[in-house]
Amino acid sequence: MASIFSKIIAGEIPCYKIAEDERFFAFLDINPLAKGHTLVVPKQECDYVFDLDDELLGGLSVFAKKVAKAIEQVIPCKRIGVAVLGLEVPHAHVHLVPLQSEADISFAKPKLQLAKEEMEAVAEAIRAQL
Ligand code: 5GP
Repeated sequence: MASIFSKIIAGEIPCYKIAEDERFFAFLDINPLAKGHTLVVPKQECDYVFDLDDELLGGLSVFAKKVAKAIEQVIPCKRIGVAVLGLEVPHAHVHLVPLQSEADISFAKPKLQLAKEEMEAVAEAIRAQL
């Protein structure tokens, strides 16, 4: 069965899309830790990020870097934090989270509730930087 992220990539489930190329896809996390919290995923389904082949893992990092640089232009932050958990969705992905402090990337804290319009506006602003 296709993962929820494969369904997003295929356009079967809506998302706030940030970027896409032949191998990778980026979109806003629906339950963000911070405004601009983005997920970067390989289109190829693979549960565990460290089971990706070296070339794809390297490509994922380079793609994530481009997206992170765009997020930095839009969201005031000290830097973009990177996290890999994968405990919820079994499709390898990297979290990019704008940070003002270490606490901003605590997955234990309550998630933000952002209006659809705000998510759309953030996604559009990040896309414009790419
Ligand atoms: P993890 O697998 O890294 O523990 O967490 C999965 C992440 O994916 C969570 O931060 C969650 O909010 C996000 N997520 C789960 N389902 C969806 C979805 O349908 N759309 C989007 N945009 N994000 C999702």
